[in-house]
Amino acid sequence: MTIAWRLPDYDAHEVLHFVHDEASGLKAIIAIHSTHLGPSAGGCRFWHYDHPEDAITDALRLSRGMSYKNAMAGLPLGGGKSVILADEALTKPPELLAAFGRAVDRLGGHYVTAEDVGMNVKDMVEVSRQTKFVAGLPAEDGVGGDPGPHTSLGVFLGIKAAVRHALGKDSVSGLHIALQGAGSVATGVALHAAAEGAKLSIADIDPEKAQKLADASDGKAVDPDDILSLEADVLSPCALGAILDEESIAALRVPVVAGGANNQLATPEDGAKLHQRGILYAPDYVINAGGIINVCTEYLGDGDQSLVRQRIEAIPDRLEQVWAESASSGRDPAAVADAMAQRLIGRG
Ligand code: NAD
Repeated sequence: MTIAWRLPDYDAHEVLHFVHDEASGLKAIIAIHSTHLGPSAGGCRFWHYDHPEDAITDALRLSRGMSYKNAMAGLPLGGGKSVILADEALTKPPELLAAFGRAVDRLGGHYVTAEDVGMNVKDMVEVSRQTKFVAGLPAEDGVGGDPGPHTSLGVFLGIKAAVRHALGKDSVSGLHIALQGAGSVATGVALHAAAEGAKLSIADIDPEKAQKLADASDGKAVDPDDILSLEADVLSPCALGAILDEESIAALRVPVVAGGANNQLATPEDGAKLHQRGILYAPDYVINAGGIINVCTEYLGDGDQSLVRQRIEAIPDRLEQVWAESASSGRDPAAVADAMAQRLIGRG
């Protein structure tokens, strides 16, 4: 077994839980990066990993990202994340979700869960039968439900801020957006962008999903192998992480990268590589905070839908702050955002 402390993504995480439930076959990791600002919160990813080590890396990176995201969004929450190691067929029986719910409950509120890739509102209802430390449940008084559409709204507003900043355009009308992914977040981004007149190229490893979203947004489905090197105004990564590395950055043909996927940079140095190429990057955990803003408002019960929207509408200003500091310091936006977030969680 790999020793977590030696992993490159271990970042003084407060606790790392390895969960095993023999009866249901649940294998999960719950990573709590920081509770400096409040109980750790972050979604649960249900995914098949070829190697368990990849799941540990994901949990470590995603939970740190949640600490940074919650801090930069001004939320009274720390950062955590869980990962369920699914089988290849992605079988998700209710007993597995129940066992996961019990594991979350045992942590007594130090970790609050919600949806991430592979988990939906129905799954959260199943989890909520075992624990109250869960959000993303069906909206009763208007706040709650799938965080995806809220993430999409924030990402879309962030794309608009980025094209204003980099291209001097007040609208995405007529601009070409290359969208990686055709899932929950990508769908909302595509529909908002299409409604404003953007031209979309969409890729998903599931070609049917890509085609369906292309049809709905008057866009074009493209091969997933081509999306990162497409000539466009914006690349919006809305699938999985670590897609921006030395090779893919060298092949980019866009002035802006702004998307909802978590952990888009394979390494911190890749933020600097984007900057050196003159590509404006919207740090992922700043632009994709819409979902957790909704989750937080639901969990704490401290606002209604209009407050959620107001909080999401503050995302572009936060991006502007990061880009302004990047311009004045010469440091890349990802490094600037990391330093800001680290100060906020008492690690600066
Ligand atoms: P989802 O499961 O609904 O969609 C992800 C899609 O990406 C799937 O359709 C999948 O087939 C596709 N995909 C996977 N690998 C791909 C590849 N190499 N090329 C093209 N497509 C690929 O998930 P989602 O909720 O839309 O989340 C997307 C990303 O946004 C994830 O990184 C997630 O962590 C992040 N995120 C989601 C939320 C949210 O509210 N759902 C919030 C913040 C961040």
